[in-house]
Amino acid sequence: MKQVAIITGASRGIGAAVAQRLAKDGFAVVINYAGNVAEADKVVAAITADGGTAIAIQADVAQSADVRKLFDQTIAQLGRVDVLVNNAGIMPPQLPHLSATDDDTFDRLVAVNLKGSFNAMREASTRLQQGGRIINFSSSLVGTLLPGYSAYVATKAGIEGMTTILAKELRGKNITVNAVAPGPTATALFLDGKTPEVVERLAKMAPLERLGTPEDIANAVSFLAGPDGGWINGQTLRANGGMV
Ligand code: NDP
Repeated sequence: MKQVAIITGASRGIGAAVAQRLAKDGFAVVINYAGNVAEADKVVAAITADGGTAIAIQADVAQSADVRKLFDQTIAQLGRVDVLVNNAGIMPPQLPHLSATDDDTFDRLVAVNLKGSFNAMREASTRLQQGGRIINFSSSLVGTLLPGYSAYVATKAGIEGMTTILAKELRGKNITVNAVAPGPTATALFLDGKTPEVVERLAKMAPLERLGTPEDIANAVSFLAGPDGGWINGQTLRANGGMV
């Protein structure tokens, strides 16, 4: 039986690239999505056409009942869960200063990014196989601390904290918990709402002078999910071309 990886938010962007990479690595993958069934089905079709195993499951990670069902349906259809990639996340295209951030924006960021990651970590902590891996998603903004990102960074700093604590709490289960913290990466989440000049300026912040690609980030996740990453535990790995 193949090992099984759930990737939250895998219909597009980084999650879709992670799913394709983990399928190549030999995992059966679950393409979780919130609303975009057509994009999720395309990722499943691409993986299946390549000889991999993939299924799509809808679940809003902000809803703990949905996340429970995501794990229930995965186990019913694929028999087990070995890896959770907690990738689903949002970032509003407009990023006002803290003083002008409205309640809805703050609450939604906390619900999807922080509570969503918590919901999936909680489920994974009791349902992953021995030897399992949990890979959360932070952001290199926790290091750069640029103005405008206060609410978003609050959710990601919280995820980094939970990552290290959960790693300790899973003592004896042989399950590692780590986070990947990408820098600016060419997906809708990063590009929407930015002028080409702003994109160029942010891309040039890294000494490698380009945006990350979803595949750059998938490489880091593949390392943490695979045999070579087995001794890394409780850490946040910044994948950002050296920006911070
Ligand atoms: P995208 O906007 O490209 O994709 C987001 C994915 O998350 C989609 O598959 C979307 O599903 C899914 N999603 C959104 N909300 C929910 C929800 N409530 N429940 C389930 N799935 C949901 O984002 P990226 O690929 O750029 O980002 C992936 C992760 O990387 C995020 O955690 C982000 O914070 C982090 N990150 C990204 C950076 C970047 O520059 N791109 C930099 C640093 C961190 P659907 O298609 O159904 O809407």
